[in-house]
Amino acid sequence: TGENEDPQNRHRAPAAKGRRKTMAPPDLNKGNKRLSCLAKPPDAQGKRGKFVEGNRPNQKFYQMIQDFKETLEITPMSEADVMETHRICVCVRKRPLNRQEVIRKDIDVVSIPGRGSLLVHEPKQKVDLTKYLENQVFQFDYSFDETATNELVYKFTAKPLVHAAFEGSMATCFAYGQTGSGKTHTMGGDFRGKLQNSTNGIYFLAAQEVFSLLNHRKYSKLNVSPYVSFFEIYNGKVFDLLNEKAKLRVLEDDKQQVQVVGLEEVFVTKTDDVIKLLEMGSACRTSGQTSANANSSRSHAILQVTLRHNDRAASLYSKFSLVDLAGNERGTDVNSNDRNTLVETAEINCSLLALKECIRSLGKNSDHIPFRMSTLTKVLRDSFIGEKSKTCMIAMVSPSMTSCDYTLNTLRYADRVKELNGPSKANA
Ligand code: ADP
Ligand code: MG
Repeated sequence: TGENEDPQNRHRAPAAKGRRKTMAPPDLNKGNKRLSCLAKPPDAQGKRGKFVEGNRPNQKFYQMIQDFKETLEITPMSEADVMETHRICVCVRKRPLNRQEVIRKDIDVVSIPGRGSLLVHEPKQKVDLTKYLENQVFQFDYSFDETATNELVYKFTAKPLVHAAFEGSMATCFAYGQTGSGKTHTMGGDFRGKLQNSTNGIYFLAAQEVFSLLNHRKYSKLNVSPYVSFFEIYNGKVFDLLNEKAKLRVLEDDKQQVQVVGLEEVFVTKTDDVIKLLEMGSACRTSGQTSANANSSRSHAILQVTLRHNDRAASLYSKFSLVDLAGNERGTDVNSNDRNTLVETAEINCSLLALKECIRSLGKNSDHIPFRMSTLTKVLRDSFIGEKSKTCMIAMVSPSMTSCDYTLNTLRYADRVKELNGPSKANA
């Protein structure tokens, strides 16, 4: 339907009240749209007594968003959803409002109707101070709302990559987003107080899958063994988290093979081994830190599981990498005169830009992969080449109005990565 194009109808889209229609994905696939929703006249506001508290900052926006949300038919992702195979999969995960946000009565400006769609209800004000919402629609392969568990996210994101690795693929899963949006929660597991319960993070679930597949009849003839590396990239330099943060060099030979010289690779025989290494590495990540990089949000952490042949001189069979990226927030350091901070920010921006370009090149089956743009893409070079490479990006967003700009930034980035899943990829 051309409904969304009709400016007269803008405030009714994507699903007008009473029509109870889930947004049709084809409409959304045309690109991400902006839909404006004007404030209702004052008498229509606050009819629902329970919301008229009066002491919520942005009460009006809150009410407008509530009203909008009521028009949406919500179908959250579930275990039963159909799994599609993607060479490049881009999905989004929204975390719940956290305690501080609830206490300061921040409002939830993100809706996830389902089927990969997501809406940001961006609060705006006209010159005459009329408040309105700019409702922006995004479409991804999957969208997980605040009720989704790590297990569910895992099932649709990293799990297919572990299976692909057993089929010989180089597979990579990225957690992308602003600091505090849930990257480490998703990769490493729930926090209970200060302790991380790693048994429900993607790291753990993937490790478990590796050992279960190794014992699987289908792969018994493969005769491979898993090895684990865990390292971080901070300011363009590689530090080995399994070897007291030893600083490592990245070399490229004349065949463009990239090697992280001296990177520890530990042979593992059970899930517990992997968890022990992760704990050791995480402790190492936070301990030997100077004040300049005390914040893990400024480095990329990469957990790599390499499958090597048991014979053939332990040559490489496949590899999969789980990457907890540095926070993508920008501009936060603009006022800082601290040179180190500026360099860090520039470095992070550069590597995230390089990452996007490399994934896009992979999607276009391009011969030219701009992997030399950053250390991150250099060490992951294998992941961007070859027929069998697969990538999944999970864009994490915070629901709060305070984070709205960061959330839009994250979604636009993820959207650029995904564009190729459209027409250009259909020809490939
Ligand atoms: P990041 O690594 O992106 O900086 P974290 O993973 O550390 O963010 O998450 C920030 C906080 O939000 C943590 O306290 C974490 O437990 C919580 N959190 C993140 N995602 C979720 C979620 N899906 N459900 C519940 N709590 C979450
Ligand atoms: Mg983190």
